[in-house]
Amino acid sequence: MADEHIVDALVIGGGPAGSITAYEVAKGGYNVLMIEKRAEIGIPVRCGEGISKEILPILDIEKDPSWICSEMDGARIISPCGNVMVIGPEVAGPETGFVIRREIFDRMLAERAASAGANLWVNAEATSFERVENGAVVRCIHDGKDVEIHAKVVVAADGFESQVARWGGLNTALAERDIDTCIQYEMMGVDVDPKYVEFYMGRRFAPGGYIWSFPKGENISNVGIGLNATLIKRGGDPKRYLDDFIRNNDRFSKGIITEINAGGVSVGLPIEKTVADRMLVVGDAARMIDPLTGGGVYTACISGQEAGRTIVKSLENDNTSAEGLGGYERAWRDRVEDQLVRNYLAKEKLLDLDDEVLDKVIEGLSEYDLKEASTQELLKGILEKHPELVNELMG
Ligand SMILES: Cc1cc2nc3c(=O)[nH]c(=O)nc-3n(C[C@H](O)[C@H](O)[C@H](O)COP(=O)(O)OP(=O)(O)OC[C@H]3O[C@@H](n4cnc5c(N)ncnc54)[C@H](O)[C@@H]3O)c2cc1C
Repeated sequence: MADEHIVDALVIGGGPAGSITAYEVAKGGYNVLMIEKRAEIGIPVRCGEGISKEILPILDIEKDPSWICSEMDGARIISPCGNVMVIGPEVAGPETGFVIRREIFDRMLAERAASAGANLWVNAEATSFERVENGAVVRCIHDGKDVEIHAKVVVAADGFESQVARWGGLNTALAERDIDTCIQYEMMGVDVDPKYVEFYMGRRFAPGGYIWSFPKGENISNVGIGLNATLIKRGGDPKRYLDDFIRNNDRFSKGIITEINAGGVSVGLPIEKTVADRMLVVGDAARMIDPLTGGGVYTACISGQEAGRTIVKSLENDNTSAEGLGGYERAWRDRVEDQLVRNYLAKEKLLDLDDEVLDKVIEGLSEYDLKEASTQELLKGILEKHPELVNELMG
């Protein structure tokens, strides 16, 4: 016989999306439990650890050196033949970001939720979901024991490999073209500008993806690669591409690898429906990742915030049906959907672009006086410097 536990809201997954949802529900005065299958929040890290500075006002948190390693001024985009486009602080604005210690960031968010009154179980893995009258029952293994959790609403915050949303009848299937496989080394002894992230673009470096260097300090950087799954099926090996890049680049070749992490990211559009009776889906589980950059922490935070606020309203109205939770779908789409769709279209274009074209585009943009870091402004720059390429890029 399983132990029984009753809560208003159950959040499955203790990443940023889950912790922020739990925080908002607890702040609203309701009884919320977050369960995390790992033994420790935030570990192992599977992240390049770059996030936008906008995260601070959005989450109403202060800059904190315990989780911020370095603050960026801008970005350098490097083309296959080595042309460099610099996006400096005056253009990048809040679009630049921090490079963080993700394990401490995740832990801070979970602790914030707990301080607001949320309960948290680690070593607790959800194994099934079933709708019942006025709620749902989730079975979970907590510290080796079977537990049945009764909740009025359940949040699928279980990340890229999510199963919970599928148990709730929502379609989270991904096309192969919409998956990137990533591998990253944290490296010390590398020659990096500690104020600039770098992106190496084009088939020469990373077909259907890019190589990044996110500096964590003077001589330390997260150096990683994302490769499109369609290429991996045809024999592409992200580790080989990354190792070749490091070996052939004097600034990285003498570095020492201190950590390796790997994982998948979705680079498609978010799932069509993120709400069902008694269920909401947040963060990576809902495929809310920026398809161009593979960054998902920002959108995980936005979706968690909107999910938590919607749950509070639905509990106040005693209505956790799909209709009662429907405000969530509108709220997160209002905040991030346009940007995700725009970047999805840009990513689709980049996937098919030849290295020669990319060389010309980046060369042209490096000579253009960019006013802001937006797709529209980039297209204006290309129109001015290489009008012959605009049709190719827009077609
Ligand atoms: C190599 C790599 C580099 C990346 N770099 C960046 C970057 O630089 N910047 C950026 O913004 N994003 C980056 N991302 C993406 C980013 O890590 C995710 O978008 C982000 O973690 C999403 O947060 P989340 O809370 O939705 O999911 P997650 O952080 O994945 O959290 C989900 C949690 O659910 C738990 N869980 C899963 N199943 C269950 C279950 N059945 N029961 C209980 N718990 C469960 C998991 O253990 C996990 O802790 C990167 C991803 C990868 C793989």
